[in-house]
Amino acid sequence: MNSLEGKVVVVTGADGGIGAAVAQRARWDGAKVVVLDRDGERPFDVTVDAGWQSLTADLQARYGRVDGLVTCAGITWRARASELKAHDLRRVLDVNVVGTQLAISSLVPLMPAGASIVTIGSLAGRTGHYPAAYTASKWAVRGLTHAAALDLGPRGIRVNIVHPGFVDTPMTQSAAPAFRTASVAASSLGRTAGPEEVADVVCYLLGDGSAYVHGAEIDVDGGAASQAGAKAISDALLADSSASPRP
Ligand code: NAD
Repeated sequence: MNSLEGKVVVVTGADGGIGAAVAQRARWDGAKVVVLDRDGERPFDVTVDAGWQSLTADLQARYGRVDGLVTCAGITWRARASELKAHDLRRVLDVNVVGTQLAISSLVPLMPAGASIVTIGSLAGRTGHYPAAYTASKWAVRGLTHAAALDLGPRGIRVNIVHPGFVDTPMTQSAAPAFRTASVAASSLGRTAGPEEVADVVCYLLGDGSAYVHGAEIDVDGGAASQAGAKAISDALLADSSASPRP
């Protein structure tokens, strides 16, 4: 059992597929969950400094502390490197990178020893993926995560990153069908994930059951990063009936 009983957990992007699943799972595990989203009932934009300042004051008055933070707010833009415009790169970096950093730096003053931060990376942050701005942003989130782990570890605040593969959410619904098909082929498990499968891992990292997991990168991608392109070769050889047992 990995109870979050009594913990105060802040989730950004909580109206989205993965954020909503994390918020729900954390509530089931006993947490008091503070949900933030640009499209939420009380709109909150993770890129706006002043919003974080008033939220921090509000949380200080209401709870006096924050035990968990999960940064699910994110956007994608699927231009390839040769076509990517500077303003689109800035837009994506602003939400995915600056938004993550503002969340961490704003809430850390409210975090006691034992608190846990989980950032959301991506398979795109583990590979040279085709959407250039999104890929760059997720590599940057990895960097922020490791820098924060170094800084906050001595205070007893853990920081880890989860890298989902293809998860069925509103974000991926906007992708071309070929993206989904190719992602299924890239997963050794041969399927996409549900958001709740990411939420389970995130909530494990929020809880005390992961007390010595710090600065870690956890793939939740059905084996896609693990096989690093080798699956296409393996599948091709299996399909080639003329190939000898040791081609
Ligand atoms: P989603 O589009 O369903 O949810 C993202 C949420 O972020 C939305 O509710 C949106 O309103 C919110 N948001 C965007 N900009 C914001 C801002 N400036 N301020 C506040 N909220 C903002 O997407 P998702 O699939 O649930 O993605 C969640 C996270 O997981 C993202 O960081 C995404 O990059 C990452 N991820 C998703 C997948 C996937 O396959 N779905 C794979 C890897 C990583």
